[in-house]
Formats: sequence, C-alpha cells, structure tokens
Amino acid sequence: MTMIPQSQDRSAFEQAQFLKILSREEALARFEAALFPRSIPTEPRKLADALGAALAEDVTAPIDVPPFDRSNVDGFAVRSADLVAAGEGKPVRLGLNGETIQCGTAPRLQVTPGTATAIATGGPLPRGADAVVMVEHTQPAGSDTIEVRRAVSPGQFVSYAGSDIARGEALLRAGTIIGSREIGMLAACGIAEVKVARKPLVAVISTGDELVQPGQRLAPAGIYDTNGAIVAAAIDENGGEAVFLGAIPDDEAKLEAAMRGALADADMLVLSGGTSKGAGDLSHRIIGRLGKPGIVAHGVALKPGKPLCLAVCDGKPVVILPGFPTSAMFTFHDMIVPVLRRLAGLPPRSDAKVNATVPVRIASELGRTEFVMVSLVEGKNGLIAYPSGKGSGAITSFAQADGFLRIDALADQMPAGTATEVTLFTPHVRVPDLVIVGSHCTGLDLVSAGLAHAGLTVRSIAVGSLGGLAAAKRGECDVAPIHLFDDKSETYNTPYLVEGLELVPGWRRMQGIVFRKGDRRFEGLDAKEAVAGALTDPACIMVNRNQGAGTRILIDRLLGGARPEGYWNQPRSHNAVAAAVAQHRADWGMTIAPVADAAGLGFIPLAEEHYDFALVTARKGRPAVQAFLDALGSNEVRAALERAGFRPA
Ligand code: AMP
Ligand code: MG
Repeated sequence: MTMIPQSQDRSAFEQAQFLKILSREEALARFEAALFPRSIPTEPRKLADALGAALAEDVTAPIDVPPFDRSNVDGFAVRSADLVAAGEGKPVRLGLNGETIQCGTAPRLQVTPGTATAIATGGPLPRGADAVVMVEHTQPAGSDTIEVRRAVSPGQFVSYAGSDIARGEALLRAGTIIGSREIGMLAACGIAEVKVARKPLVAVISTGDELVQPGQRLAPAGIYDTNGAIVAAAIDENGGEAVFLGAIPDDEAKLEAAMRGALADADMLVLSGGTSKGAGDLSHRIIGRLGKPGIVAHGVALKPGKPLCLAVCDGKPVVILPGFPTSAMFTFHDMIVPVLRRLAGLPPRSDAKVNATVPVRIASELGRTEFVMVSLVEGKNGLIAYPSGKGSGAITSFAQADGFLRIDALADQMPAGTATEVTLFTPHVRVPDLVIVGSHCTGLDLVSAGLAHAGLTVRSIAVGSLGGLAAAKRGECDVAPIHLFDDKSETYNTPYLVEGLELVPGWRRMQGIVFRKGDRRFEGLDAKEAVAGALTDPACIMVNRNQGAGTRILIDRLLGGARPEGYWNQPRSHNAVAAAVAQHRADWGMTIAPVADAAGLGFIPLAEEHYDFALVTARKGRPAVQAFLDALGSNEVRAALERAGFRPA
C-alpha cells in the first residue's frame, strides 16, 4: 500500500521527487556559475553572409567617411570670402577654372581668389575652396565666367571628411545583431569581413513513447510532438542553431546513445519530457554519466515548470524541459534563453512591457514564481489582462496569449483589479477590433471567419457564459456568447440580461445522447428509453458534464437522482464527452449534434439549447461590432451554420 507521507515525512518525500527545489534565481545563478565566464567561439564572416549574426568584437572605423571633403550638390566650389558682398542686385563674377570635378575625379587645380570650379554631387572639394554654391543659384556670364547673386557661408553644401564616420570611432559594438543598416555601415568603411559569434549548435531531443511527429498518423494514446518544433524554433529565434534529433522512446539505452551522440556534435543539448520521477523518466539519471559537474538544479520553484532540470556536462549545458509544451516554453524563455543568448554572444533579450489590470482574481501557489498567460483587451480605463491559461498542458494558451504576467513566489493570489505589468510576446500590443468573451462554440468561428478575412482582428476569450456576462457588464468586451437556462422561467438567456446589455439571437444547438453507432442499447431508442435502459445495465458507463454547464442541468433531469457508473467523470466540454465515448472510456453522454457528428457517433436528440449574444449597447456603434452583426445575419453565415449542424435563430 502506498502511504501519503505526512508533515515531516513530506519533505523527505519531496526530496525523493526532486533533488531540491530551488528558487528560480538560485537555479539560474548555479547554472550560469557552472558555465561562465567562458570565451565565445567566433568565426570570420563575409559581409554578404553576415545578416542576422552577432558581432563578436567591437568594430572601429578604419577610415573617415566620407574620406574627403565632399560636395553635397551640383554646383561650383568657391571661396566664401569672395561672395561676402553678393546679393540680388549685386552679382559677383567668378572666373571658371579649367576642370569639372565629377564623382571619382581628383581635383588638379586650386580655387584661387575670384575663381570657381564646377563640381558634381559627391565630388571632392578642391584646394582653396571652402563652400559650394548650387548651380541653381548661379548664372553663366560668358563661356568661362559665372555670376552669383547670394552670399554663402563657409562650409555650405560641404560634408567634411569623417563627418559621417570618423576614423577610430567605435562603429558597432560586440553583440550587435547585424542587419541591413549595420551591413551598410561596414560596407561604407570598406570592411568586407567581420568576426561574428559562432552560433551555438543546439541539439534538441523530445522524449516519450507516446510521441508522434507531425505529418504522421496519430496512434491510439499518441500525442503529437509539439516541443520538438517549438523548442527548435525558439533556439533559432535566440541566436542558436537548432538540430532536431527527433523523439526518442523512454528506453534508457536508446536515450543514452542519443544524448551521447548529441553532445559529441553539439554545443548544447535541450531535451523535453521525462523530468519527473515517473517510471519512464530516465534523462536525468543518464546526465549523471555524461560529464562533470552534472545536474546543478533539478526542481525549480516556477509555475509552470517545476520539474526543470539544468546540468552542465564537461562544459556543455544540458537542459531537460518539462514535458507539457507550455511549461517547456516558459522555462525555456525564462531560464534557458538568457544562457543561450550569452553563448551566442548576444545581449540579454529586451521584451516589451505594458501596464494592465487583471479583471478577475488569479489564485497562485505560494512558494513558486508563477507565470500566467494573458490576452489583452481595451477596457474603460486602459488595458485589461485576461488570464488565458488552460493549464500547463495547453498549447493554445501560449499561442493565443499576448504576453504573460508574473505572480511573486510569496503571493498566494493576485486580487481582481490589480494593476500589473505584462511582458509582451511581440514588440507591440495590438488591441483586437472585436472582443468576444464568454462561452465558446465552433459555430462562432464561422461568424468570425469573414471578419478576419476582411482584416479585422477578432479575439475570442473562452471563460464560460457567466464569465462572459460579467465581462460584458464591466464593458470589457463587445459581445458575450451565452447559453444560460433559467429554471424559473424555463427560458434561455433573456432573464440574465441587465441594463446596458441587449440580446442578439444566435443559433440553436441540439443536445442529445451520444453513443457509438451500432450500440444496441441506444440505437433506435428515444432519450428517455435509452437512459432508462442504461440505468439498469451496470456495465453501461456514462460520462457527465461539469457542474454549472447547461448540459449538466439536462443530464441531471434525465437521471432523476440516479448516480450511475461514470457520473463523477465530469469533463468541461462537449468535445471531451464525444472523445470519451468514441474511445470506449464511456458508453454514453450528452453533447451537441455537430460534435457528435464530427466524432462519427450516434445521436439521440433531446432538447435545443439557445446560444445567443449579450451585446454591450454602448459598443454597438463600433464598425467591428456592426460587421459582426452583419455577418451573423448574412445568408452565407446562416448557411454555413446550418451545414455545421446548428439552427440559426
Ligand atoms: P513527462 O515529463 O515526460 O512526464 O511529460 C509530461 C506530459 O507532457 C505528458 O503528458 C507528455 O505526453 C507531454 N509531453 C512530453 N513531451 C512532449 C512533446 N514533445 N510534445 C507534446 N507533449 C509532450
Ligand atoms: Mg514522458
């Protein structure tokens, strides 16, 4: 029997789980101490190939740019003292010297008092001259004389040698990423080759028997390898050169061979998965055999990301990221990127930040620095940051978020209304044109699609009907999709509206019983008969819905107080119910018709649910809201909804 250790025993238990939980600062400090200082390998790079590389050393200008005093206009090189008295009514005549200075022509003749030399833009200023008059401000007076009718100041239209770049000046600093402008500066100085930091070669390995590469067929119980692609891309984004070695099964010998091979060729190794002490979790055991000093931190007080493992094997960093993609990405950005950038000769990353207010209380675990992904929307008084996390296993919470906020390790929550700082994933916030907060439905995507194609950005934040209604009341969204049944009036949605909100009818979704096609216990029966039969068969397992879901109310009514096997399995979405039945974990449940259809399941219709929109009246005039309402009423969208199994209201 497994005992859950109590009080004092608990810490021993946790130490067996993870060597020792360190704060993120301590973990990072240990990792960096084991790696730095070190010299960063460099390589010469031709200018044409230097784009995107990091300069390994400061570049000093070897010459002046321009290399000589240069004319900025087409005109005549003159002595300004000759023209002091020149004016509209008092032209000064200058004799022309017998040469014209083009670009690339070195002057031969001196400009002596009372003379001028014709000069083209970019031509070197001849000896004796100290200014240039534009050709437009002169008039020919015979074949070898000009008239000038305005005074010039010394230095007029002249770029002096070194005025752009002075010889010996620091042109570019080490760590600068070479872009087109830097290439331009280097070329202007005649530099054909620069010393750049050699990109660290970073081997990437995913671990897990369950992993399948994108493009291949998903086996039963298989998961697509997400970390491999995302980690490789993030490495490239931060100055490394990723080499993806695929997913290795949880097999100690195979994994060790792969890790040894990777370390022989690469400068760094990043694994994901297998960091907790489950049966298949081997990587950290193998690390102990790969080189000194080995693991420097295993278990960091971070959320998400506690199982992170940091190691250095004979000078090479080896990292095991947590398996869940979101955890993997956070720990990568927070803990690995600083080290990778140093290895790549890059300065620390500078992320854009904005201030925002959190609309809801966010609970947090005491003792762990917690990162919460947020979607930003425009509120009445500035930006509002909606936590968009769906748990550390969710990849969409990362992809759909605008950035993240941080809750201190010593806080157990962030109260609603807190003003906080959000670190952006992109350089700028782009506040969406239309904000939809509430219950999600695949039908919603059919309405938004046209808006997106018309260039409007639509942000849909799924927080459930009640959450959406609250956001609408606070004026933080344009529309809130809701499907709330009112027991008293036995009607949908309308009883929930308050002043400032109006109801826009959406569509009806048929709810009913799902089962696997061909299951005699359900085929051909109506809902009441089917459930009555299921209740008498102990081998028949149901899947329920979460408390508060509209569907749950229907299920409880049908069951009439019965608690059959499977009742406590209470997933939060229509799709999860269909998946449970399709995968034989349950035999029946309740979902909506389009979801049952998409999963290829049998369906017994029961009752129609009303999926409508609470519209914030004050926002009705916005073009994006009008576009949404137009789309909702359009024939194309109505037809598309019908094709998908919904019944437009
Ligand atoms: P592990 O740390 O290996 O126990 O993995 C924790 C969770 O992350 C499991 O649900 C794994 O299936 C999942 N996971 C691990 N590696 C990957 C990956 N490369 N891509 C997507 N999910 C993964
Ligand atoms: Mg695993």
